[in-house]
Amino acid sequence: MPQYLAAQRIPILELAAKLGLSIKGRTASCYNLSAHKNGSDNNPSLTFYPATDSYYCFSCRVSGDAIDLVRKMKGFSFKQAVNFLMTMASSSPRPTASSQSYSEVSLPSPRSKEVYRCLFEHSTSPSVTSPGGQYLTGRKISLDVAHNCHVREMQSPSAAWQQLEMQFTATELQAAGLKSSKGNFLFYYHQLLFFYMQDGRPQYVIARDIRKAQSLLKGDDKKQHTPKELALMSVKPPVPYMVELLDGSPEKVMLCEGHIDTLSAIQLGNKAIGVAGATAFRREWINLFRKGTNVTIAFDNDEAGRRNAAELQAQFRMQGIKANAMIPAQVNDINEILQTIA
Ligand SMILES: [Zn+2]
Repeated sequence: MPQYLAAQRIPILELAAKLGLSIKGRTASCYNLSAHKNGSDNNPSLTFYPATDSYYCFSCRVSGDAIDLVRKMKGFSFKQAVNFLMTMASSSPRPTASSQSYSEVSLPSPRSKEVYRCLFEHSTSPSVTSPGGQYLTGRKISLDVAHNCHVREMQSPSAAWQQLEMQFTATELQAAGLKSSKGNFLFYYHQLLFFYMQDGRPQYVIARDIRKAQSLLKGDDKKQHTPKELALMSVKPPVPYMVELLDGSPEKVMLCEGHIDTLSAIQLGNKAIGVAGATAFRREWINLFRKGTNVTIAFDNDEAGRRNAAELQAQFRMQGIKANAMIPAQVNDINEILQTIA
């Protein structure tokens, strides 16, 4: 692995603390105060994203990864920043009590990928009559596209969990990110599964709650409810969704926010890969793209989507890859376009 890739993986919160920022939760007062109104940041605007080891300031809009943070706070060159991070990585004994909570998010191990394969095998392709199939066709996504994009569904999440528990130890299932904080099956209410595949093998999985009743829940019930889409606990994706579409070096690739949007873009005839959210793209993935590829970043038409698309566009361009940000006009996301056309 190139040194700078290893350097980018330094847990961002741990680094921020080391650089002297006073962290509260995932935020801190910004270091770039000269760009702030009145030169202060009393309501901490600098926000850290441990899942992608990146940061963003909601006030002055500085953003970046571990290397950027060191460069800006210490006035280092790229190389000096990488060296600083490598020294920090080798000198900080791990896991210490304080760094443990920060380095919780890791890439799946080979054994974890076996767990995902087992889950894949104990789930099925959505059909015309299944709840998952109806959910997809209700959004005008064809079941062929869903099948080709490794969308699966569990007829019975508890039965799938039983199979997993028979084949893997509790520790393995936890390491794979499939146990909730209470020790239950994380995807108990999330029966629609989006598998991230590479070389025909599952690398990661995200699940979606498709129960109709969810939108009817009110007040406290809604608050206690888990999010509609769930990523694995403490495990981050090693590749973007539908990464195999980058094989064969396509001239044009779309980068979508969310799995339903990725499916919609593919159905509309694009080569499209997806990330779970606008901040979920990891900078090292830029290396997956061939130079000369035209990347269209199609994130949601909301503030976060627009901001992150602009940021990512700059990062692609720095690596010599053509990128432009397409914000769907008049609609919120690509699935809405599909629904309008279909
Ligand atoms: Zn700032």
